[in-house]
Order: sequence, then C-alpha cells, then structure tokens
Amino acid sequence: MQTQKEPGFRESVNLMFNRAVTLLDLPQGLEEKIRVCNATYTVRFGVRLRGDIHTFKGYRSVHSEHMEPVKGGIRYATSVNQQEVEALAALMTFKCALVEAPFGGSKGGLCIDPREWEEHELEQITRRFAYELVKRDLISPSQNVPAPDMGTGEREMSWIADTYQRMNTTDINGKACVTGKPVTNGGIQGRVEATGRGVQYALQEFFRYPEDVAKAGLSGTLDGKRVVVQGLGNVGYHAAKFLSEEDGCKIIAVAEWDGGIHDPKGIDVQDLRDWISKHRGVKGYPNGTYVENGMVLIEEECDILLPAAIEGVVNAENAARVKAPLIIEAANGPVTAKADEILRQKGAVIIPDLYANAGGVTVSYFEWVKNLSHIRFGRMQRRQEEARHQLVVDELERLSADSGIGWQLSPNFKDKYLRGAGELELVRSGLDDTMRTAYQSMREVWHSRSDVDDLRVAAYLVGIARVAQSYGTKGL
Ligand code: NAD
Repeated sequence: MQTQKEPGFRESVNLMFNRAVTLLDLPQGLEEKIRVCNATYTVRFGVRLRGDIHTFKGYRSVHSEHMEPVKGGIRYATSVNQQEVEALAALMTFKCALVEAPFGGSKGGLCIDPREWEEHELEQITRRFAYELVKRDLISPSQNVPAPDMGTGEREMSWIADTYQRMNTTDINGKACVTGKPVTNGGIQGRVEATGRGVQYALQEFFRYPEDVAKAGLSGTLDGKRVVVQGLGNVGYHAAKFLSEEDGCKIIAVAEWDGGIHDPKGIDVQDLRDWISKHRGVKGYPNGTYVENGMVLIEEECDILLPAAIEGVVNAENAARVKAPLIIEAANGPVTAKADEILRQKGAVIIPDLYANAGGVTVSYFEWVKNLSHIRFGRMQRRQEEARHQLVVDELERLSADSGIGWQLSPNFKDKYLRGAGELELVRSGLDDTMRTAYQSMREVWHSRSDVDDLRVAAYLVGIARVAQSYGTKGL
C-alpha cells in the first residue's frame, strides 16, 4: 500500500527497530544478530485441480530462535512475498518478548486468493503446503507452531494439524503443532476472538491512565468515543463488536476492500458483518452512506482509528490528512515508518502493533500449553473453587440468621460468586492480565526515559532488551 518513495514493509520494521536499538547499549554484533531474519524457506508445489496442475508459492520465515518453538501465523493473500513474511516474522519476535510468550518469531504465507477456490480445493492446497513445511520441521510442536492470519482461520489450522498428525502418528503432542484450531479439534475457548478481545483490553488499559489519554488530546472513558475501523475480518470485527457492545464506543465508519460505510450515528457491527458474509463486501449495505474509496475513511474525523486489515495503509501520502488523535494498530504494520514520523509530529498517539494485536499469540500460547498438558483449563479446579465459595456463602447466611440481622445475599451476587471459572473465563483472565502487564512495561519506559517519547519505541525497547537478555544468558 505504501508509496514507491517509501521503504518497503521489511525496511519499515528495520527503521522502527533502529530507532529503538540505538537507545540500548548493546554490542554491535548482538544488535545485528537480533535484527536479521535467521532463515526464510520458499516452497513451490503443484496441486492437480480442475483438470490441470496448479503451482503455488509459499513461505515460512524464522526470524529468531532465541526461544523455541518459534511462532507466527500463516497468511493467504496474493500480495504475500518474502519481504512481507520476514517483516511479520520480525514483529512476532518482539511481540512475543513483549507479552512474555516463550517463543521466537516466525511467519508464513501462501500467494493465493482464497476466494477463488472451493473449500475442497483449499483443503487440498493447504494440506500440500502443510506437508511441505512439516517434512522440513517448519511445522512442529517443539520447533515451529503456526496460527491463523489474514485469509486463514480455524478450518485451515485443523487441516494443518491433521496433516501433521498423519505424518507423525506416534507424536503424542501432535495437536500442539499449530494453534487457532476449532475447540472440537484441540483448540481453546476464546481463541477465535482473542486478537480483537486483546485490542479491546489494550484500549481499556490505555484509558485507565488519564495522563496517557491526555497525551492524545482526549479525555474521559471509552464511552461515546467515535471509532473508524478498516477491515471487518476476524480482528476488526471482534474489536469493533466488543468496543461498541461493551464499552459504549460508536463505530462511525468501516472501510473494506470494496468500499466503506459511513454513519455518524453508529454502525451496527453485527448487522454489517452479516451483510458482508452474505454479499462478500459492504457494497449495497442499506444503512449508512456507501463510499466507493474506503481509504478516504481513514482520514475521517474521529477519536480512534483502528486499522485491522493490511500493512502500509497509513503512509507518507495520507498521514498528514489523518485526523485521529489515537491510532491502535490492530493489523500488523498499518502505519509506515514515514507516516509514524508525520503522525508523531502532529501529536497523535499510536498504540503499536507489537502490543495491540498480541492477544492472538497470547491465547495461542494458552492453547499450545493446553495441548501439551492434554487437559482443559479449569477441569481440576472448577468444582473445588465452587465448593469453597459455597462454604463462605453458607457461613455468611448462617451468621446473618443467627445474629438476627437478616441480611440477604442478592441472587445475582450468589450466581456470579458461586460459579467456578471455566476455560473461557480463565483464558479471558490470562489475556487481560497479559495486556495490562505488557502495557505497564511499555508505559514505564515511555514515562521514565526522557529519550523515549512514543509507545512504539517503548514497545521495541522492552522486546529487544528481553531478546538480548535471553541471548546473554543462554549464549549463542
Ligand atoms: P481477515 O482475513 O480475517 O480479515 C481481514 C479483513 O480486511 C477482511 O475483511 C478483508 O476483506 C479486509 N481487507 C483486505 N484488504 C483490505 C483493504 N485494502 N482495505 C480494507 N479492507 C481490506 O484477517 P485478520 O486475521 O483479521 O487479520 C487482519 C490483520 O490483523 C492482519 O494484519 C494480521 O496480520 C493481523 N493479525 C491477525 C491476528 C489473528 O489472530 N487473526 C493476530 C495478530 C495480528
């Protein structure tokens, strides 16, 4: 998306890395080791479809193996290329470090438009791609664990898991070779919406600090804030849905690949999503105003801009016209290095991708642990927790009766208090804790260092320092 004059995505990530690394006192050699991508594998394979052999090109890039397995999604899009997967793999390294998910960074992609193929054809293609990666240990529970990204979801992850398990029939941990699987096939509750939920938790945490909110020229809470969303896919849809239904945000515009919808009164996110699922785009949606060039909505007057589609959409060409004082990078790399500079000069606050979309890998981490432990979270503790809470309630009611005070615990309180945490509650709690803790580690750097004036550099500083520490303690 970025203009010709701008550096590409990989270079853009490097520039952001450089801005941070110069503030750390790392030996030159270690700095270079952390910057580079360790390996990128290109695979070309043929699949017989529609009476002909079709050759597909895919990648799996491993950025850093300071911790293994390495982790990162697999993207299906025609725009996939080596620079892109390497940039995304690098982001994964620092993202995992920032949210303390014990993985190195990786990413994969297949040059394909999934909309051009039938489901059974996509299954054949995915299985063959997975086979090529598994046989080279580029998919493995202990070495490299993919997850969904743009254009892929539970369905593809399930095919990948099955392919791995057919090739490794005695691997008892086989299901942990990939995350983002359906719950019925080794997945975990809350993974589908995890990235969008993480975006919501990130914004909630940001709004807990009035001085941070003031830096963006905003005030108050999320309630009533006007949000513009780009991309109503997995991440954008869930983030927009939770923010509008639970935090009182007003989604005033949604940009999609075929145009955008604008409605200052607020868009019904679920209704628009249903329309998109049925009509494959926003065009023709009866509520709000249709805008043919969705990109102009990025420049719309709003409180929060939430790009959740592809990289480079806020670039040197349009950054000066972006009016949002707060941008949350739900997508990876939506703001180029040049645009980042322009926006910072304008005083906008950017909650960076490294942090903002880390909910996905966080819950993927929980899923991987679940697969390795072969037991659902909460299965052992839930009833015991309920029994202990029941004891407290019984005792309170007895005291109240014996003393003659006659207090009654409200049924609503009892319902909530007596219910032990199941898998979904535990996943949400772990995700919320992760997003809060990671924000605080960034914020600490942001506020305490005079040479750090934005959250992106703070995020990179925390991430890079942790990777450096890991190399330092384990040796190369
Ligand atoms: P998705 O395929 O589910 O959704 C992407 C959406 O963006 C689709 O609705 C698509 O139509 C739309 N889109 C594509 N090109 C567009 C354009 N030019 N303008 C406007 N809209 C466009 O993908 P996703 O999983 O939601 O991923 C979106 C972004 O979030 C990517 O950058 C991805 O790397 C990042 N991300 C995803 C996850 C995850 O768990 N899925 C985790 C972390 C980061």
